[in-house]
Amino acid sequence: MKFTDFNFHENLLEGIAASGYENATPVQEQVIPLILKGKDIIASAQTGTGKTAAFLLPLIEKLLTQPSSDHHIDVLIIVPTRELAVQISDHIDGLSYFTSVSSIAVYGGGDGSSFVQEKQALSKGADIVVATPGKLISHINMGYVKLKELRFLVLDEADRMLDMGFHDDIMRIISNLPAQRQTLLFSATMPPKIRTLAQNILKDPSEINIAISKPPEKIDQQAYVIYETQKMPLVRHILKSVNYKSILIFCSKKQNVKNLTRDLKKAGFPAEQIHSDLEQAEREEVLRGFASRRIPILVATDILSRGIDIDQIELVINYDVPHDGEDYVHRIGRTARAATSGTAVTFVSDKEHNKMAAIEQLLGNPVPKMKVPDQLGEVPEYEPRRRGHGGGSGNRPGGFNRKGGGRPSGSKPQGNPSRQGTSHPENQQKGPRPVVQLRKPNGPSGNESPA
Ligand code: AMP
Repeated sequence: MKFTDFNFHENLLEGIAASGYENATPVQEQVIPLILKGKDIIASAQTGTGKTAAFLLPLIEKLLTQPSSDHHIDVLIIVPTRELAVQISDHIDGLSYFTSVSSIAVYGGGDGSSFVQEKQALSKGADIVVATPGKLISHINMGYVKLKELRFLVLDEADRMLDMGFHDDIMRIISNLPAQRQTLLFSATMPPKIRTLAQNILKDPSEINIAISKPPEKIDQQAYVIYETQKMPLVRHILKSVNYKSILIFCSKKQNVKNLTRDLKKAGFPAEQIHSDLEQAEREEVLRGFASRRIPILVATDILSRGIDIDQIELVINYDVPHDGEDYVHRIGRTARAATSGTAVTFVSDKEHNKMAAIEQLLGNPVPKMKVPDQLGEVPEYEPRRRGHGGGSGNRPGGFNRKGGGRPSGSKPQGNPSRQGTSHPENQQKGPRPVVQLRKPNGPSGNESPA
């Protein structure tokens, strides 16, 4: 479906074209007409599906075609993290470039001057406010936030917000909003607590399931079963063996991020780090450097695993196995964004076999186990302990019954079938091959233009 089929305002179509979008993604095809009709929505859609534009485009269209009086906020988008707030705000700027729609991002961690700026914008009113819950509440408490005539509320990454303990903040914000409004809830997963929230805040919602808790097929997934002490040598080996431009390395703990960055720098690699100990300004600076490829290697905690939209990351390395399948999907989804392909490598130390097995259970496929370079010495065998259904935290509450758009169940496994391993050690890859073969961004399957 082409964007011209939606009958959007010509200035919005210009912004869409300038963003390089031609065809709507499946989530956009499903969601946009419903939002235009005024329906409340509960949608499970993972990042990388084009879900942000799926709600931004019809909302901007409504602002253009059904303008309201000035001096209040029309659209409130609540998001879990500052990075996502900035990113969505940038996305709005791009799509609404040829329109008069105004937006502001309101998030914690800024300095006093950003608070004053936010205060001014919030008291004057803005078409769209993108906010993290805590910061918005601080402003609301001061009494000048113009929410009484709000028309549209979006909760993005709602599951993540509840995981971060924002439930009460969200309900407090909503208690300041008019009951008569259109509400859109997006969540990567649909655990019971999201269902309960939806029942409380949505009216007769349409339900859309695009989230499949599976990574895009374009991602070449690989795993290395090693000892903890072999992780650093393997990172170095991989970094030396690929012609990298943009590599994101995830660690589960802040301390691991710090240690790894220090070790990589010491070894001469151009690596920087991002985690919650950095000041907001430092975080933004590092993100900008990474997005512009001035910084080719970024070591991060899960702070970056969701929603962050940096195009053409060629390689994601999970230095630690992520906590659960959803985190795995989010982390590796940082590569292979809408129109590109990418590679995701996971290091599985001897203490992480069960975690990895739980993730594979959720994926429905084993992640191919690659041959560890000989110079790293002896490696352990992959021996996840069988527990119940494969053991572990890969729960998928509520399940995802795809109604469309996603890959059909039982469809072909990820990666090159000739390299499919199984959890049995004998099926580990033995043949010699380069550790990581990077695919070119914008590979042959990519017929969409990147944003
Ligand atoms: P999201 O799932 O919202 O995080 O979007 C993932 C990426 O897809 C972002 O880089 C978007 O700019 C891009 N994108 C969204 N919609 C389209 C589209 N229709 N065609 C091409 N790229 C898109």
